[in-house]
Amino acid sequence: MIYDVIVAGGGTAGSVAAIASARIGAKTLLIERNHCLGGAATMRNVLTWCGLYTLGEDRTQVVKGIADEVLAAQRTLGGLGPVMSFRGVFVPFDPESLKVVLDDLTLGAGVDVRYGAAVLSASRDGNRLTDVTIAHHGGVETFTARAFVDCSGDGDLAAFGGASTRYGNADGVNLGTLGCRFGGIPADVLVTVDQIIDAIAAESFPEGAMTKDRSVIARLPTSADLVVYLASHDYDPRDSGALSRAESNVRKQAWNYLKAIRSIPGCEKAYLASTGPEIGTRESRHLNCRHRLTWPEIMARTSYKDTIALGAWGAEWHDRATYRSAFDYPADKGSYEIPLGCLHSRDTENLFCAGRLADGDRKGGAAIRVMGTAMGTGHAAGTAAALMADDSFSVAAVQSTLRSAGALISQNDL
Ligand SMILES: Cc1cc2nc3c(=O)[nH]c(=O)nc-3n(C[C@H](O)[C@H](O)[C@H](O)COP(=O)(O)OP(=O)(O)OC[C@H]3O[C@@H](n4cnc5c(N)ncnc54)[C@H](O)[C@@H]3O)c2cc1C
Repeated sequence: MIYDVIVAGGGTAGSVAAIASARIGAKTLLIERNHCLGGAATMRNVLTWCGLYTLGEDRTQVVKGIADEVLAAQRTLGGLGPVMSFRGVFVPFDPESLKVVLDDLTLGAGVDVRYGAAVLSASRDGNRLTDVTIAHHGGVETFTARAFVDCSGDGDLAAFGGASTRYGNADGVNLGTLGCRFGGIPADVLVTVDQIIDAIAAESFPEGAMTKDRSVIARLPTSADLVVYLASHDYDPRDSGALSRAESNVRKQAWNYLKAIRSIPGCEKAYLASTGPEIGTRESRHLNCRHRLTWPEIMARTSYKDTIALGAWGAEWHDRATYRSAFDYPADKGSYEIPLGCLHSRDTENLFCAGRLADGDRKGGAAIRVMGTAMGTGHAAGTAAALMADDSFSVAAVQSTLRSAGALISQNDL
């Protein structure tokens, strides 16, 4: 089968990329190894949209376009919570609403969605990818396309297809953490981060039985479940043995955190509503792209001729050695531009990426990986790939197509 565009990975970035591509007329295939879209948002209990709003008092929304349709549809289903501030500004949501919204939007756009299908290999001819082979219960199948978008989070398509990638950055790789949902806590019981820190400190588990002692917490719309990101492990997701050991280790930790949470007044009947199910890999491979977004550029609020999306999140770092987190705000707690160059492979002409694969240095990458921003970079990458497949790719064409679809792409659009 021949496609115009193939998108690997249906997380928040890949789903929006595929919708954008199909809506401008490209015959689009979306390959997802799980059985729903959403990625971390539906398979890793990452249930708070970050990056949608600036972090100052005025809370300006900086990601619109297809992202706005996702949010509106979640709101209609009662699946979107209020805009909240902790260290940053985030919006909690119910993952079931996101699953059905992304099904509706991808199918409505005419995307050919393949669940239960993993990218197995990819071929290239010179500086272009030519085809992708997927594995599923029926065997293996190969599909050809004119342009490709890697939104697999781990860079499988790029790496298997021989495009230039790297693992994390030379000065560090962000820590992985299991997102956990705790039910059985009445909605009117106030649970604070400080209470959780104290409850963890009061436990006398051996070292390593619990790792992080603080995280963003949120109560979900509909269920009022408490979501925390605590149980962590240092592993390399490209090593399936290390990944497997990490999974069983963090699941065990989750029960220890449950014990701690049950000691908080009003939480005595708490239970583990769900873990993950997958451990949350914050950072894995990046594509080596035409531009690497650096933290100094973000802090300088640099303008780019090829800007295609706006970021608003800070450099959120979770350290592998200490299990401590750090959060540095962007300049003026405002928005910053993201250039197309950090989504376009430096050695593979017809390959783009989005989401946590986007090219950034240690702190730049840690700022633009969040799911709100991933919808913005996904929108841009899907648009760029569809235009390339149609032989009408240019930076100006990508920008005008994005603006016509309601996306905010430069400071002047706010
Ligand atoms: C513990 C934790 C807490 C976080 N907290 C927040 C938060 O509060 N707010 C926020 O906005 N962000 C948060 N993030 C970051 C955010 O979850 C990610 O950066 C974001 O999900 C990136 O989106 P993505 O689409 O690039 O990747 P992902 O969401 O990882 O999606 C990648 C998709 O590709 C699929 N895939 C992978 N390999 C293959 C393959 N070979 N074949 C087919 N499919 C494949 C996967 O199944 C998945 O669906 C957190 C991350 C973690 C781990």
